[in-house]
Amino acid sequence: MAYHYNDDRLPTIVVIGGGFAGLELVKKLNNKPFRVILIDKRNYHTFQPLLYQVASAGLSADSIGFPFRKKIGPYPNIAFRMAEVQEVDPAAKKVITNVGTFLYDHLVIATGTTTNYFGNKNLASWGLPLKSIGEALDLRSEILQELEKAIVTETVEERESTLQFVIVGGGPTGVELAGALAEIQRNVLPTDYTEIDRKQMKVVLIEAADRLLATMSEKSSKAAKNYLEKLGVEVRLDTRVQDYDGASGVLQLADGGTLRTRNIFWTAGVKADPLPGIPAENIGRGGRYLCDTMNRITGLENVYALGDTSLIQGDAAYPNGHPQVAQVAIQQAHRLASNFLRWETGKKGNAFSYKDKGSMATIGRHKAVVDLPGFSFSGYFAWYIWMFIHLMALVGFRNRFMVFMNWMWNYFTYDKALRLIVRPYKRPQ
Ligand SMILES: Cc1cc2nc3c(=O)[nH]c(=O)nc-3n(C[C@H](O)[C@H](O)[C@H](O)COP(=O)(O)OP(=O)(O)OC[C@H]3O[C@@H](n4cnc5c(N)ncnc54)[C@H](O)[C@@H]3O)c2cc1C
Repeated sequence: MAYHYNDDRLPTIVVIGGGFAGLELVKKLNNKPFRVILIDKRNYHTFQPLLYQVASAGLSADSIGFPFRKKIGPYPNIAFRMAEVQEVDPAAKKVITNVGTFLYDHLVIATGTTTNYFGNKNLASWGLPLKSIGEALDLRSEILQELEKAIVTETVEERESTLQFVIVGGGPTGVELAGALAEIQRNVLPTDYTEIDRKQMKVVLIEAADRLLATMSEKSSKAAKNYLEKLGVEVRLDTRVQDYDGASGVLQLADGGTLRTRNIFWTAGVKADPLPGIPAENIGRGGRYLCDTMNRITGLENVYALGDTSLIQGDAAYPNGHPQVAQVAIQQAHRLASNFLRWETGKKGNAFSYKDKGSMATIGRHKAVVDLPGFSFSGYFAWYIWMFIHLMALVGFRNRFMVFMNWMWNYFTYDKALRLIVRPYKRPQ
């Protein structure tokens, strides 16, 4: 029997956000006895782990985005609405958006995170973030515009500041972006930007902690640093960024040092942005919703949070909440989907328990680090594993095919071929 969206006898589940968690949840609720409405402010799912490759001209934007309607169009009990949620009203069981109000029986909030500048207004206006496809395209344009600008600058000082690319935040995104920029410097500048001496371009990676990839093993952190330094990246550990003066291009460090640069790429942190209407007492560290072990927001009836926005309390293995990674989002979605079915038939729900399948980061050609439960490795094999896992995790065959073809092209030509300034980046005034 097929369940249909128009059947108003079915309980309505509204899911806000079609990221890893939201999309996985609605896939699992396909043809189950619920009306499901997926709401997202964009009409596509973003595969965030490969954003840095769009930013560094290795992949096209459309190869890492996937239209929601393509995925859920064939699901008869699921509808998509492109809308920005502005507020929720848990007492009236309503979701208020820019296109109207939706009523729910169950509400799932899976809105992910936004960039955290830790309250610094200058860094927020001058630092380029990397959380969406639009931002990745801004970053790509900015990098290419600065290379063009460097060729026509008149003073040595200006050229140095134009060619100095500073990445703040040594987590996986910062490390991967730094590696990709270093490969542009190494492989693209000597052939296509012959008027720039490649030694004049500098990639600096700044990290406040005493090691890169702090969530990975010490061994992987060390290997990543070595790889980056081999590629010519200057890695500054134990270094905290304090402020940035966009007019003079001076980056102020907490230790009193300064760096002159026009380019700050900010990958230093994320925070959840709680939706208006959720009481303050339900919000914990990093703006995440406080949940019980079944992802129910504590104290609210039939409201759940999944993925990066959730902060589960009561899992002894993760007293500070689960890591904000795709696997957590996906596994929580699976658990909640199965609990919805259990609750519907009067059974008790099961608590979420995270199975850590490992983590990885890539630095460049043949350079990656992989931590699996119990052991870590790096190098060629890690790089191939990284590529395979990311390829398989992409949504849709077309995207997998396009990414694979682009990677083959990049591999054999050493090029980052998508170097088009289609939508110029407008620097703040
Ligand atoms: C650059 C980058 C690289 C990463 N690399 C990795 C990696 O290699 N491995 C890994 O495991 N994790 C990685 N992550 C983390 C991973 O992407 C997140 O943990 C994961 O996306 C969380 O899934 P989610 O569903 O909670 O949120 P998201 O995937 O962020 O999805 C949130 C969705 O909510 C929508 N939304 C937000 N607010 C609203 C609103 N008000 N109204 C309507 N819709 C809204 C957004 O449009 C978005 O589609 C990376 C993250 C980034 C930014």
